[in-house]
Amino acid sequence: MEQTETKVHVEPTNEDIIVCSQINKWFGSHHVLKDVNLTVKKGEVLVILGPSGSGKSTFIRTINGLENIQEGQITIDGISLSHDIKDIEAIRKETGMVFQQFNLFPHMTILKNITLAPIWVRKKPKAEAEKNAYELLERVGIPEQANKYPGQLSGGQQQRVAIARALAMQPEIMLFDEPTSALDPEMIKEVLDVMKELARSGMTMLCVTHEMGFAREVADRIVLFDDGEIIETGTPEELFDHPKHERTKLFLSQIL
Ligand code: ADP
Ligand code: MG
Repeated sequence: MEQTETKVHVEPTNEDIIVCSQINKWFGSHHVLKDVNLTVKKGEVLVILGPSGSGKSTFIRTINGLENIQEGQITIDGISLSHDIKDIEAIRKETGMVFQQFNLFPHMTILKNITLAPIWVRKKPKAEAEKNAYELLERVGIPEQANKYPGQLSGGQQQRVAIARALAMQPEIMLFDEPTSALDPEMIKEVLDVMKELARSGMTMLCVTHEMGFAREVADRIVLFDDGEIIETGTPEELFDHPKHERTKLFLSQIL
C-alpha cells in the first residue's frame, strides 16, 4: 500500500503535547544535555538525528522520566514532569517506548507480552486485553504469532511485537530509540512500514533513527543534536537540502 503524496500522514494539530524548556542534564560532571528547548505538536512526527554520544537517547529517555534532569522543565500533555512518582507514572502511561533491543519478556508468549501491562497497570479485563492484542498484532502484520515465544520470531517480527505492546497501553506519544539499528537489512522495511502507518494514523512520534529515507518521507520536522545541544531544526527539505550550520553539513556529509 504505497502512498503517492510526499507526507504519509495527517497534518499535526496546533496543540502542544510536549514542551521542553531549558533542559540541562549532567552525568556526574559530564554535561550531556545543554539548554535543550523543544515543543512538539500533537500529531507531529519528529526525527532526531545526531552523532553517537550527542545525547539523543538521553533526551528521549528524559521525556518519559527514565532519566531525571537537573535543570529545566518538561510538560507532557499538560502534566509537569517532577520527581513525584505519581507524575512520572502518569507520563509513562502517555508515552510508549520502543528500544533498539526489543526488550520483550523471553519466557512469555507474544500474547502475554502484549496483555501484561494492560491487565496489571490499566486493569483491563483479560478478554478485552486479549481482543485488543489480536487487533494490534493484525495491525503490525503478524496475527499468526500470538502464541509463540519471542525467541521463535525474527528480529523484525519481535520489534513489531514491541510496537504492538507499546500501543496496547494506548499512549498519546510514541518514542522510538533506533528501532531498526539491531535488525538485519531485510527486516528494516517491515518495521519502518509499521511506523509509517502509525504516523499516518496521527500518532505523535519522536524517532531517533539513522534511516534517512524514513526521515525524509515521514518527518514533519528534523532535530539535529550535537554534543548535547540542538544545533538545527527544520523540515526534511530545509535540513537535508539547505542545511544552515557547518556542523549539520559535516554530519550529513558523513552519513549520506
Ligand atoms: P546518543 O544516544 O546520541 O548516542 P546518549 O544519550 O546515549 O547519546 O549519550 C550522551 C552522552 O552521555 C554520552 O557521552 C554517553 O557516554 C553519556 N551517558 C549516557 N548514559 C550514561 C549513563 N547512564 N551514565 C554516564 N554517562 C552516560
Ligand atoms: Mg542512543
